[in-house]
Amino acid sequence: MILHNSGKEKSDELEKHIEFTSSSREKFLSDLTRCLENQNDRKKSVGAILLKIFSLRDINHTFGYREGDAFLYRLAGNLRKILKPDDLIFRASENEFLIALSGIMNEGHAILAATKLGKLFEKPVPIADRFINIKSAMGIALFPEHARTAEELLKKSSIALHEAIMEGNSYAVWFDKQEKLSDTSSLVIESHLKDAIEHNELEMQYQPKLDIRDDMIFGVEALVRWSHKELGSISPDYFVAVAEKSDLIDELTASIINTTLKESRKWLNITTSLSISINLSTINLLDETLVDIIQRAINVWDIDPNRLIFEVTESAMMTNPEQSLHILSKINSLGAHCSIDDFGTGYSSLVYLKKLPVTELKIDKSFIQNMPDDASDRMIANSIIDLAHNFNLSVTAEGVESEIILRELKEMNCDNAQGFYIGRPMLNTKLNEWLQNTHWKVRNPVNR
Ligand code: C2E
Ligand code: CA
Ligand code: CA
Repeated sequence: MILHNSGKEKSDELEKHIEFTSSSREKFLSDLTRCLENQNDRKKSVGAILLKIFSLRDINHTFGYREGDAFLYRLAGNLRKILKPDDLIFRASENEFLIALSGIMNEGHAILAATKLGKLFEKPVPIADRFINIKSAMGIALFPEHARTAEELLKKSSIALHEAIMEGNSYAVWFDKQEKLSDTSSLVIESHLKDAIEHNELEMQYQPKLDIRDDMIFGVEALVRWSHKELGSISPDYFVAVAEKSDLIDELTASIINTTLKESRKWLNITTSLSISINLSTINLLDETLVDIIQRAINVWDIDPNRLIFEVTESAMMTNPEQSLHILSKINSLGAHCSIDDFGTGYSSLVYLKKLPVTELKIDKSFIQNMPDDASDRMIANSIIDLAHNFNLSVTAEGVESEIILRELKEMNCDNAQGFYIGRPMLNTKLNEWLQNTHWKVRNPVNR
């Protein structure tokens, strides 16, 4: 087994930190397979982070293999310090490490680990008698969500790594459309998206929200959709991220707000009180004109601002808590409400939770979907509900896919539910029909 960067000497030091170095790809894959097989808890995932170090060859050439090795030992030791004891580090190739995070709950945890690992490369590191900037990038994929085998996991994390390199980001996560889209550069997507926004080609779908306490539909969440002529339908997770990276996000959000408020007028002859939830992205919170855009749309479409709820994810709020507080307070002063989305996947500080002008907390669907078979998910959901109620917030559970889940949530005193069991996201015309024909009661119906 070649443990040494130079391939000449064996190093116990490196072996202490790293599971395996690149003597053969087969051996690496079989070790990784064993690691995946050991993941017994089927509710949890293994997160793979493929970390590429660009500067290794230069270090070896400039300072010699001894210094190159010393750098690798220190790096491996530093990686180890950040990772949990059960996480494994593999040497995937000469300048790539594959880090297997065992038993993680979701993608957010892998991103958090990658963010911590990325910090190792933010400052120049001492090599020989100098300080050198080390360039790196990471690709993230999850087992079993994105890949069923070690080979596939490596492939997807390396596609994500490629994306990170192309985009100049420190990491990227694999997602479903990436393979197809990896041929189409994000600059091309960006220009298509710009056209789509300009030509009003984006559509909104609306997903009903149920008040569990009286079994009444009381609101909808607006979710944006984009179907491209050649590329087909593109996930909002992807194109919202493309918009965030370019300067399109403010335009996109303005168009979403405007279309949603315009279309919401059509529901007024069915119910006058339907609440309307609109998603905001992290970047929107930096835009001082957002509040004016909302105010203008409220005036143009003559909507009661009290019906509006703006959703911001927990992690977006925590990226810049002071700025979030500032913008959300302004939104609040318009008479609209704010909500914390995907709660449970970020790392909220309770201090900020108390300060934020929010009225609703949405439990991330990853905790709800498996509730019937997973006691720990039930416990998490239950404690989030209690926490929210202690802060006087109403709680919406997302990802309610069955009657059993809905019943369990009722027993936990959860306030609201959203999910495929209640209703899928649908276009405005379909929602109109649905509201008139659904077996659920609708809050404040207009008598006709
Ligand atoms: P999100 O805000 O958490 O939206 C909920 C997502 O869960 C939606 O996915 C919805 O279709 C899906 N969903 C709802 N009920 C269920 C269920 O019972 N089971 C399962 N498996 N999924 C369910 P979608 O529409 O693909 O949106 C994904 C994400 O993209 C959203 O997550 C949000 O972060 C972003 N997004 C969507 N629309 C917008 C938008 O208008 N603006 C912004 N900034 N982001 C948006
Ligand atoms: Ca949302
Ligand atoms: Ca959500």
